[in-house]
Amino acid sequence: MLNLSTLNPQQRMAAETIRGPVLILAGAGTGKTRVITFRIAHMIERGVAPGSILAVTFTNKAAREMQERVNKLIPRPSKKSRDEKPERPTLCTFHSLCVRILRQHIEKLGYKKNFVIYDQTEQLGAIKKILSQVSAKGEKTDPAAILAMLSKYKNGGSQAAAFADESIKAMAEHIRTRYESALRACNAVDFDDLILLTLRLFEEHPDALEACRNRFRYIMVDEYQDTNASQFSLVHYLTKEHRNLCVVGDDDQSIYGWRGAEISNLLDMEKHFPEVKVVKLEQNYRSTNVILTAANAVIKNNLRRRGKQLWSDKGQGTKITLHTFESDEAEAKAIVEQIEFKRLASRIPWSQQAILFRTNIQSRALETALRQGQVRYHLIGGQSYFDRREIKDFLAYLKLFINPNDDISLLRIANVPARGLSDVTMERLLAASHERKCSVYEAMKNPMVTTSFLTRTRESIEEFVKFVEETRAPLSSGQSMSLKVWAEKFLTETGYLEELRRSEKTAEAADNRVRNLKDLTGILDEDNHTIVAGPDGTHQPVLTNDPADRLQTFLEELTLDSERKEEKEAQGEAVTLITMHSCKGLEFPHVYIVGLEDGLLPHSRSKVEGTLDEERRLFYVAITRAMQTLTISYCTGRKKYGQVMPCHPSGFLKELPEELVELGDEKAKQPVTVNTGKNLFDAMRSALD
Ligand code: ATP
Ligand code: MG
Repeated sequence: MLNLSTLNPQQRMAAETIRGPVLILAGAGTGKTRVITFRIAHMIERGVAPGSILAVTFTNKAAREMQERVNKLIPRPSKKSRDEKPERPTLCTFHSLCVRILRQHIEKLGYKKNFVIYDQTEQLGAIKKILSQVSAKGEKTDPAAILAMLSKYKNGGSQAAAFADESIKAMAEHIRTRYESALRACNAVDFDDLILLTLRLFEEHPDALEACRNRFRYIMVDEYQDTNASQFSLVHYLTKEHRNLCVVGDDDQSIYGWRGAEISNLLDMEKHFPEVKVVKLEQNYRSTNVILTAANAVIKNNLRRRGKQLWSDKGQGTKITLHTFESDEAEAKAIVEQIEFKRLASRIPWSQQAILFRTNIQSRALETALRQGQVRYHLIGGQSYFDRREIKDFLAYLKLFINPNDDISLLRIANVPARGLSDVTMERLLAASHERKCSVYEAMKNPMVTTSFLTRTRESIEEFVKFVEETRAPLSSGQSMSLKVWAEKFLTETGYLEELRRSEKTAEAADNRVRNLKDLTGILDEDNHTIVAGPDGTHQPVLTNDPADRLQTFLEELTLDSERKEEKEAQGEAVTLITMHSCKGLEFPHVYIVGLEDGLLPHSRSKVEGTLDEERRLFYVAITRAMQTLTISYCTGRKKYGQVMPCHPSGFLKELPEELVELGDEKAKQPVTVNTGKNLFDAMRSALD
């Protein structure tokens, strides 16, 4: 029996209001997410069909955590039969919700069912390809800038605003059209398309909308302040009729304005649903009063906000520590030492400590120091500095076998290992594909194209096509097979593993890469299921033996959830290294916020773009992740392009009440080195480990 008495009266009211619109507007750590999980469990206990419940969250990590929390609250459903999975509520992100819907209906929009999803790397690949064709020689345009503009454009920004940069404006519209037809030719969609196509589906195909409305009868959205216009429309489409929508959010934590998020979606809830029940929560259950007061003091400098009074009964707690370091490297090293000190002297495990940073470039110094200090960590939200070529190659192979028209994947591995398909050959094939408005693979299969090559090259092309056809044949045979065995076979037969070994200088490095691949092939056969439409238009998850379906689901999960593998590896005892944007909704007993410098936080762009308020909200989000202790630091110098550049402390530091902050002791400025000789740490480590 679910115990709702562990909720306070307002939380309880929100959890017990099952029908009609509900808005929970409350500050950080007040239990908004907890209410959602209890609400789901309560509904199920009241007899609502679990399959009709949908909860949408912002990140995959949040969705998984919510799933775990709900699993603990509801009794394990008994399996109906061997082939059928018990009905469960759907807890996912907007993107994965759209993938589920599109897998069912995308053919109505003229795409093939086996569409692939391009992640950022693949999007960039597509743009680079177009740029190489359209820009004059020597002209340099940053593909990432083009990509950012395309995304802004797709997410509702007007063309003028999105393509504001005069230098590339003229080219941008042209590239956009080329980009869209390139993706179309490859039967690929990008992240933004997932939502936009679902919206188009709803607009143009009322039957599909009706099926989704019937399926998801109770909808909840966490972090609602960060939904953008298209996500808002999606929610509206699904809930307009039954109006069973519960949204939770905090206007002070809106940090995705740069991606088109609109706080007004949250604040205008009463306008769209006049009958909405509004719930306010004021008790914070997460942080000490020092942390909470500091957070409140910072955020009150934002003018346009709904003021809130947050309080906590967690006691005063220890003061916030503020450190100054002379360089980012010294900062990283000292933070790692403090983490180790906490672990060794106070028995605070790594998993209870998190380092929060503002921009991707900051992770390099931190990752290096963590590695040198032999501290296990787990990076979320940043781009890992330690990129893994073998994983990308392998995934490109898999994607190609699912969809040979996926040009980006094909170009990546066409000559890996070397098989006589040089860059020049591939460029010619690419040009041919462009001329004929088909994919590169189709060009390779077309004798009219291949006859123009030298015999040797033509044979290489034919051999490659044969290899692709033969390897992918078992996928569509409809017969059950082990994907792991299949993948290991083609990796060996195609000579990939051998080349990987050869390309590394040391046996150890080669072994590492092979092991990375083995880790991934090892999970290929993990239990998979797919959502299928029943005759009544509802969608049910069922187990599938179809290898192509299983592989597709596997790739989808990896694309949508790129941090997952890293996470799996570092599960358990590891420090969390996370960007401020990704840390929403999470909490850690001990938090280190690094790089509180002018230009980093607030980011230098914020001055030009007038987004200082959003930067402050980001700082507020970061502070409110901390439960017990908070350490903040800034550097007086930071390495940029190999040179140490002077830095100034962030203006936000002045907003922290002086009486809540103590300065880090002098020793922190010249940190002792952890790994030189038998120092204090080594001695403690050998005593404890
Ligand atoms: P954020 O705005 O950061 O997403 P939130 O409002 O979603 O925060 P939760 O993560 O749900 O807050 O809750 C914060 C912490 O407080 C969690 O550890 C949660 O278990 C705890 N908590 C929430 N409500 C209660 C309660 N009524 N009794 C005890 N603990 C609670
Ligand atoms: Mg939350």
